[in-house]
This record gives sequence, C-alpha cells and structure tokens, in this order.
Amino acid sequence: TDISTLLLSRIRDVADYPEPGVMFKDITPLLADPAAFSALTDAFAGICARTGATKVVGLEARGFILGAPVAVRAGLGFVPVRKAGKLPGATLSQAYDLEYGSAEIEIHAEDLTADDRVMVVDDVLATGGTAEASLRLIRRAGAEVAGVSVLMELGFLGGRDRLAPALDGAPLEAL
Ligand code: IMP
Repeated sequence: TDISTLLLSRIRDVADYPEPGVMFKDITPLLADPAAFSALTDAFAGICARTGATKVVGLEARGFILGAPVAVRAGLGFVPVRKAGKLPGATLSQAYDLEYGSAEIEIHAEDLTADDRVMVVDDVLATGGTAEASLRLIRRAGAEVAGVSVLMELGFLGGRDRLAPALDGAPLEAL
C-alpha cells in the first residue's frame, strides 16, 4: 500500500550493527520526516480505535517514541514497559530468554485495570520475545490484550508464531 511504501522508504538498513552479521533497521529517518511520522501515528491510532483499545503500552525505548503520540492521537492513556530497575513504584516483572542469556521487563501494575484493553506498540518485532513478555505483564496486571502493533515484522525470525499463544486471538498488525 502507499503508506507501507512511504514508511519503508524512511527506514535505514545498517549493516553489522550492533554486531557483525546483523542488518539493523533504523527508524530515525522516519522520525525526522513529519509526514511519515504523522502517517505512522495515524495508522497505529486507527488500529487502536478498531480494536477497542483503552490504553497504549510502549516498549522501551523506541516503543516510547512511537507509542506516546499514538496514545495522544487516539485519546488513550500511555503506559511504559521498562527494562528492570527503572520504574520507581510497585512493579510486575517478567523475565524472558534472549539468544544468549535473558532479559527482564517491568510495568507499574496500578497503571492497568481489569477494564483496560491494551495495545502494545513497538518499532520492530524480531524473535517476539519482548512482545510476548509484555503480553504476560498485561495479563498478570489483570487487563485484556487488544493486540500488538509494530512498524516492522522481521518475518524470517518467526516472532508471529512465538507470539500467537500469548495473543490468544488478538491481532498482530505490522505496518
Ligand atoms: P525481539 O524481542 O527479538 O522481538 O526483539 C524486539 C526488540 O528488539 C524490540 O524492542 C526492538 O526495538 C528491538 N529490535 C530488534 N531488532 C531490531 C532492529 O533491527 N531495529 C530496531 N530495533 C530492533
């Protein structure tokens, strides 16, 4: 579609970053282009409206940049999921496996309620581990999952399949 072409044209491939053999998808050219950034925000906000989302959860750190304007445009609250140790209040924590080692993310439990339907926003779905862990946090906080919205899905890494059980029928949208 037109919007996908516009967005894709504003993503820079950086070879061998952050390590040899990795082709990094850099979204900073998109952020610097007001038409592309606004079109992306509108598209995400439309998904929020269609799925009946009541809150946007952004995943540190690029999910904050993308998710916050989506929340404002959709008229929803924004809740950050942060790397462990960064949130000052009472948190729920979720560990998940990386290719080498593990990581842990956290959320302020009181920012979600049983009435919330939550849309997770991030830039890139790779293996799906981060998004999967965020869905666990949302459900453990007692809220419902409205879906996951990402700018890009790296299909060859199989994140969609990994995420399917945690989505439990909710949509994964990749623009
Ligand atoms: P996953 O947990 O393997 O799906 O990795 C997704 C997380 O890593 C997201 O929070 C992304 O921001 C980040 N990530 C992975 N690959 C890339 C990339 O090529 N560009 C930007 N972010 C990436």
